[in-house]
Amino acid sequence: MTVKKLGIIGGSFDPIHKGHLSSAEFVYRSLNLDKVLFVPAYIAPHKIGMEYAAAQDRYRMTELAAEPYPYFEVSDVELKRSGISYTYDTVLELKKQYPESELYFIVGADSVPQLNTWNHIYELLNEVTFVAVARPGYAKAFAKAREAFGGLGEEKIMLLKMPEQAVSSTEIRERVKNGEDFSEMVPEAVRDYILQKGLYR
Ligand code: ATP
Repeated sequence: MTVKKLGIIGGSFDPIHKGHLSSAEFVYRSLNLDKVLFVPAYIAPHKIGMEYAAAQDRYRMTELAAEPYPYFEVSDVELKRSGISYTYDTVLELKKQYPESELYFIVGADSVPQLNTWNHIYELLNEVTFVAVARPGYAKAFAKAREAFGGLGEEKIMLLKMPEQAVSSTEIRERVKNGEDFSEMVPEAVRDYILQKGLYR
């Protein structure tokens, strides 16, 4: 199948949760994408030294979560490249793999105020359209950050209004650590993996 419109969602996925999955699905449907690629970071630039689970475990959980969806795929470009996972490098690699595709990079609205610190952000904005989905408490910061990019921001950073989902990897890790229930926040296969491997204790 030719992939005309490719969605990409990057993250540390430590662990992947239902907020990631429903955001990706919402963008997939709203923009009529052909596929969404989940790209687990080897080392996320804004979380150096702050990963909790090993890259291989984060990757495997992402695979387990994506498995039921025929239009989701997991990419190992950042794991294979190792080192710090700059999105710009990833996008250049994905462009080679998908030379015919328009690229849509999916983020939570909380990521947009940090975009000005991303490696090669202006070049990146020329390669992809950022699609932000609302996250609790970030509406104002999002608007201000987008405005700071001027015309390029208007053209290349869009916000999709979907019901906000108050779930984060941080909260899941806290719950696991405290022995609290987190089963509503992740797919069952991911919950089983976390418990079997004893992650986040
Ligand atoms: P942490 O709590 O460890 O900071 P996280 O839950 O924000 O993690 P990441 O793996 O860092 O998860 O997120 C990857 C991408 O998914 C980011 O762009 C983030 O903004 C977005 N995202 C994460 N959770 C949600 C959510 N509940 N709704 C919308 N977007 C989300």
